[in-house]
Amino acid sequence: MEFEPVIGFEVHTELKTRTKVWCGCSTRFGAPPNTQVCPVCLGMPGSLPVLNRQAFEIALKVALALKCDVPERTNFDRKNYYYPDLPKNYQISQQYAPLGRDGEFAIELPDGSARTIGIDNIHLEEDAGKNIHPEGQAHVDYSLVDLNRAGTPLLEIVTRPDLTGKEEAEAFMRGMKAFLEYLDASDCKMQEGRLRFELNISMRPKGSDVLGQKVEVKNLNSMAVVLKCIDAEIERQSEVLAGGGRVAQETRLWDEEKMVTRTMRSKETAYDYRYFPDPDLVDVAIDAAMRERVTAMIPELPIARRVRFIERYEIPEYDARVLTSQRQLAEYFESAVAAQANPKAIANWMMTEMKSRLNEMGEDATADDFPVRPQALAELVRLIDDGTITGKIAKQVFPEMVESGKSPAAIVEEKGLKPLDEGSLEPIVRKVMAENPKMVEDLKGGKKKAIGGLMGQIMRATGGKANPALVTPMIERLIEEA
Ligand SMILES: [Zn+2]
Repeated sequence: MEFEPVIGFEVHTELKTRTKVWCGCSTRFGAPPNTQVCPVCLGMPGSLPVLNRQAFEIALKVALALKCDVPERTNFDRKNYYYPDLPKNYQISQQYAPLGRDGEFAIELPDGSARTIGIDNIHLEEDAGKNIHPEGQAHVDYSLVDLNRAGTPLLEIVTRPDLTGKEEAEAFMRGMKAFLEYLDASDCKMQEGRLRFELNISMRPKGSDVLGQKVEVKNLNSMAVVLKCIDAEIERQSEVLAGGGRVAQETRLWDEEKMVTRTMRSKETAYDYRYFPDPDLVDVAIDAAMRERVTAMIPELPIARRVRFIERYEIPEYDARVLTSQRQLAEYFESAVAAQANPKAIANWMMTEMKSRLNEMGEDATADDFPVRPQALAELVRLIDDGTITGKIAKQVFPEMVESGKSPAAIVEEKGLKPLDEGSLEPIVRKVMAENPKMVEDLKGGKKKAIGGLMGQIMRATGGKANPALVTPMIERLIEEA
């Protein structure tokens, strides 16, 4: 029997607010341990939480952008469990009246087709602290806890099990990250844990619509790891089922070293958490005025922006797709074009040279981190378009711009990279033609392609400083004169 995977996600994202969700402590990443804490986020007796309005509005914006049903009143519940990184011994979350239910999210697959993934619910809660297990030291039999993160606003988006394989899972994760970035809901830095994907996956006989027993997997800290984990679970569950066994209901952890998942705990249910409404927090009314105001904060989203890029800048669909895959990339493109440069040329530079540099900078790097500003890239494109430098020289100038941050014009001036004028060019062209009589004969005989060979030789001889717009007529003229 053949099996197919059924996949859903729980997406956790830390919202982009300056302060925590129930107190005024900073949410900045990387501060010394336990320096961003107060009685509220330390769970001291007698302290009372106050809802961060901005966190609530961002969460509501995401719920509305996901086309969720948003209730007229929402409130918060306590999810009770004990763990060292949770000083209150409960997490404030939403169980009975979450911010949104029954939403949808469109994903696009590499072949250009689209699918809609159901959103079961979306709710606002708080992040926990972080347990630190000192490693590499002898006789360490303790763990440390850093509560700087405790109380950071956390949004959980729970999808329906609508994804049917790795390709769709990847499209979902990329799409969701871009969506949250566009909404300015989170900075989505996965390495800092600002965006986390938890996977649930089950297998069923191919073509069946009955769901198998799902397994949840945690500890997945990058998209690449999620994809590896999907492969590993498909293999493991298929083996269990093919052997006539049953997949256990449990939560598993990803073991990056062994590239397998292992049992963390048998799956708890909602009853185990003894949810009850938090008596310290009041209900929040979501009236029409608030709904309208927050809806107005939803910006142009990736698909709409792509359509506009194709129409307005007349760039190919593929280019528009790449450029709108990240908000920062799309904004970079528009800034560069606004600085008077040819859109297609800007797109080409961004999709090749810039993208490979960004990849080297790591998974979380965005166009905002790129050392060359859009105005400088626009200037480089203009220098090529007005014939000041050749495309070949531009390829030498660009890395220099990345390293030094200097303007392209300054680099061209400093390094003497301007193309040769006709006077200096002609002796070189004559010499190359004399050395390549066969190519010259071919050209005379009407083989137009032969000019490419000559051009290559001339480029080599001038170190790329020959302007093709000058060279081509010069070769033709010299042949005629001969
Ligand atoms: Zn605090």
